[in-house]
Amino acid sequence: MKIAICGCGWSGAILSNMLTEYGRVDVYELNKQPITVCACGVPLSFLRHLTKKLGFNPEEYVLWKSNRIILDFGTIDITIPVRNLCTFDKEKLMKDLVQASDANFSFGKKASTELKNRYDLVVDATGKRALLGPLPNDKILQAFQVKARFKELPYPDFYMNFSDPSSGGYLWMFPISDKLAYVGCGGYSGSYIFHRVQRFIKRFKGRVLERRAKSSRVNSPIESMPFFKGNIVGVGTSIGTISRLGEGNALSAKSAEFLAEHLNNLKEYSRKVLAEFRWLSNDYSFFEAYEKKLKSKLIYFGTKIWKIYKRRFDIRVTLSEFLSFIYGTLRWAFYSFRYGAELGVKSRKFK
Ligand SMILES: Cc1cc2nc3c(=O)[nH]c(=O)nc-3n(C[C@H](O)[C@H](O)[C@H](O)COP(=O)(O)OP(=O)(O)OC[C@H]3O[C@@H](n4cnc5c(N)ncnc54)[C@H](O)[C@@H]3O)c2cc1C
Repeated sequence: MKIAICGCGWSGAILSNMLTEYGRVDVYELNKQPITVCACGVPLSFLRHLTKKLGFNPEEYVLWKSNRIILDFGTIDITIPVRNLCTFDKEKLMKDLVQASDANFSFGKKASTELKNRYDLVVDATGKRALLGPLPNDKILQAFQVKARFKELPYPDFYMNFSDPSSGGYLWMFPISDKLAYVGCGGYSGSYIFHRVQRFIKRFKGRVLERRAKSSRVNSPIESMPFFKGNIVGVGTSIGTISRLGEGNALSAKSAEFLAEHLNNLKEYSRKVLAEFRWLSNDYSFFEAYEKKLKSKLIYFGTKIWKIYKRRFDIRVTLSEFLSFIYGTLRWAFYSFRYGAELGVKSRKFK
């Protein structure tokens, strides 16, 4: 079998190590080398599973093991204890994956649908359906991110700021060491996210080491059908394996695993992806309710996705933490209702 993988981003690099047992594999990548624009936050158990499966030592890639996420809503901030979250060296892992693969790599080459005539199977791992073709409801968000050095990290652990629901995204700071962090922002407007990141860096006196921008497709799998057309099949973000918060590494890697397992049965592959990521529909509905400030939907979908995130990131909240959270939320709701959200109050920490 002759296989072409189009895109040597995250899913393409993983697949280049999984598909060679089926025959000849050629990989085409637009960039001159594997490049990543990512904050690199993933569940630790996922990183261990993937690296072990591909024959690498997980500990070589872990940069920061997290024990909490600080969620800042502007008028309330909540600290959630987590036990299964880390940042990892994605660029190194991708380069190691390319080096370890038996596939043939062509960097600096743009792939097009013309390849379908020369290969038995063409994998669209471009993240944006460059070969499968865009869909009418495709939602594209802008992201801007810097790697920055601080004298001391502005926040002690993972930090996410959701104070502006209508922006379509949020600002994040994910630590990669006790002085280095990725600071980024996603949203509808490129200039807005750029200035939000700049303000954060200026406020905390950070030194920018690297700047990267990228537009990303954020649609759930159900909104990304069909997953294959003739002999072209999608994987990763091309078929919606990304949450509305932009978490796509673990999910895209899972879709790559499914494709490698069901390469000869693409219908079964589609079924597997849809079943595994059914929960993403709730995730997208939750974020839509947040953006439009629809309180009852927010609670409904929030309860549904809480269970998923609780399991994935191993969130273990004690009774006193839970009561403290309820107290803080009620206090915030009371003051916001009475005096307007702008006034607000910071709750007690969820910890
Ligand atoms: C700023 C930012 C921060 C993020 N942070 C996180 C995070 O903390 N945790 C997390 O889990 N996820 C995060 N993500 C999401 C994650 O990076 C993606 O979900 C993941 O990389 C998707 O992998 P992919 O293989 O589908 O696409 P990509 O990794 O985007 O790979 C696509 C590749 O295809 C290439 N390509 C495109 N068109 C062509 C063409 N015509 N021919 C040849 N090559 C082509 C591109 O150059 C690229 O290398 C983040 C994303 C962004 C933008």
